[in-house]
Amino acid sequence: MQSRPAELGEFGFAGDDRVVPFQVEGLDVRGRAVQLGPLLNTILGRHDYPQPVAQLLAEAIVLTVLIGTSLKFEGKFIVQTKSDGPVDLLVADFSTPENLRAYARFNEEALAEAIAAGRTSPQELLGTGVLAFTIDQGSFMQPYQGIVPLDGASLEDIAGVYFRQSEQIPTRVRLGVAELFDRDGEGRPRRGWRAGGLIAQFLPEAPERMRQPDLHGGDGDNGERAFSEDDSWSEARMLVETIDADELTDPQVGIERLLFRLFHERGVRVYEPQAVYDRCSCSREKVKGVLKGFSEDEIASSSEDGKISVTCEFCSTVYHYEAEEVRDA
Ligand SMILES: [Zn+2]
Repeated sequence: MQSRPAELGEFGFAGDDRVVPFQVEGLDVRGRAVQLGPLLNTILGRHDYPQPVAQLLAEAIVLTVLIGTSLKFEGKFIVQTKSDGPVDLLVADFSTPENLRAYARFNEEALAEAIAAGRTSPQELLGTGVLAFTIDQGSFMQPYQGIVPLDGASLEDIAGVYFRQSEQIPTRVRLGVAELFDRDGEGRPRRGWRAGGLIAQFLPEAPERMRQPDLHGGDGDNGERAFSEDDSWSEARMLVETIDADELTDPQVGIERLLFRLFHERGVRVYEPQAVYDRCSCSREKVKGVLKGFSEDEIASSSEDGKISVTCEFCSTVYHYEAEEVRDA
C-alpha cells in the first residue's frame, strides 16, 4: 500500500481485472474489491465450460484473487474443492504478485444428467467434500492448508468460516457472477462472463473487539451467554450484506461507486489498484521435470510412436517430448 491513501474519487475508476484495496476508518474495516471481465472471459472461454461449471469456477476465481492479492510475501494462494458431485474438482491458483490460473474438472455424463434434472445448485453440482485454502511460500516453507467442509453453504459463507477458524478475523465475503450475451463485430451472438467480489475484515486496534459469537449458537452448556458482536462490525457486516449481486458485476456501477454507496458516511478510502492477469506458470522444463519422475512403464503407456504429449490442465498449452528425452538415464 502506498504511504498516503487517496480519498475515494481521487483515482479514476480502476476498471476490470484490478483489485481495489479499501479502508473504512470509522468502522475499523479493511478490505478489497474487484470486478473481473477480460481475465475471467479468457479463462472460461479457453475451456468452454458448460454454464453451471463456469459459474462455479468464476466464484472460486474471484475469491482467490481477493485473498491472493493480500499476501505480503512471495508465494501462492490456492483455492481447491474436492468432492463427489458431477463437478469433482475446482482449482484457482494465484501466484504473487499478479498471476492467476484456474480449471475445473467434471464428469460429462453426470453433469448432463444433473442439468437435465435441474439439479444445478452449487451443492448439487459439487456434492459432498472439502474446500481447501493453501498458502505456499515456496520450497523452504511448509505450506499452510486450511480445510473447510463443503456442506452446502455458499462459497462466500465458507470463506467466512475459514477466516473465523484459521485467523479469528471477523470477515464477510460477497461474490457475484453474471453471464452476458452480446454480439461480436460480425453480429454473431457471443457469450461472455463478468464477476465481482468484495471482502471486508474487522481489524480494530483492540483485539478483544474481534471476539465473535460462537458458530451454531455456541457449544458451551455452562450457562455463559454468548457475547454480542462489536457494533462497528455489525454495521459493516450489515452494509456488506446489502450488496446486490448485480452491483458486483455491473461495469456501470464500478467497484468505487459501490464502496462509496456502502461506506461514504464512515469515511472510505481506496488505495492503488492491483492488476491481475490470466497467466499460467507452466513451462516445457517444468512439465519435463514431472515426466522424468515417471517409471519406464508409465513412459511406455503415455507415449505414442516414441513421443509424449502433455496438455496443461490450466492453460491448455500442449507440450511435446521424445520419450527418450524424459527417460531417466
Ligand atoms: Zn499452463
